[in-house]
Amino acid sequence: MTPGEALAAECARYTAMGWMRGTSGNLSVVVDRDPLRLAVTVSGKDKGELTPDDVVVIDAEGRTDDSVRVPSAEAGLHGRIAAVSGAGAVVHVHALAPVVAAEHWPDGVELSDLEMLKGFGRQAHETVVIPVVPNSQDMRVLGDAFEAGFREDVPALIVARHGVYVWGDDLYQARHRLECLEWLLRFKTETTRRGDSPRT
Ligand SMILES: [Zn+2]
Repeated sequence: MTPGEALAAECARYTAMGWMRGTSGNLSVVVDRDPLRLAVTVSGKDKGELTPDDVVVIDAEGRTDDSVRVPSAEAGLHGRIAAVSGAGAVVHVHALAPVVAAEHWPDGVELSDLEMLKGFGRQAHETVVIPVVPNSQDMRVLGDAFEAGFREDVPALIVARHGVYVWGDDLYQARHRLECLEWLLRFKTETTRRGDSPRT
């Protein structure tokens, strides 16, 4: 399967889950490590209808030599995450649960004693804090905030009032982590009783 075929297929799955509404969200896979090159979904298209040609190759800063296809505006953060984490695939969706969780816990969302943490590559009894950064239209600002809070054992980043990034060795591992993380964040927000202090 080519990177374009794989990205289109994954986008169709995420769209069916309601996580890529409108033209939102973007996915990438590393196609070369030295120097870093990623295939990323193009900007502005319905992610449920991508073809294998709707990808563009970018460098670590999100720049491209392609004169036809326009990479996602968020491509620069994909490059930064892949460079810093060593991930082979980065997925970004506008799922609701991560954004709601960030609204409650803007300094990081703590998850603990949950079986689904195993799907995130951790043990069920562990405590994991998912970092939250403020939204920005400047990918360098977002990239600096990501890097400041980066931990090798937490392959996710929530951008407040925006969406979530998750990464892994490949698109499958990234998807499995995202699916489990979305469940964990939904559990966390839905079990926070109305009237509780939002930061407890
Ligand atoms: Zn986004």
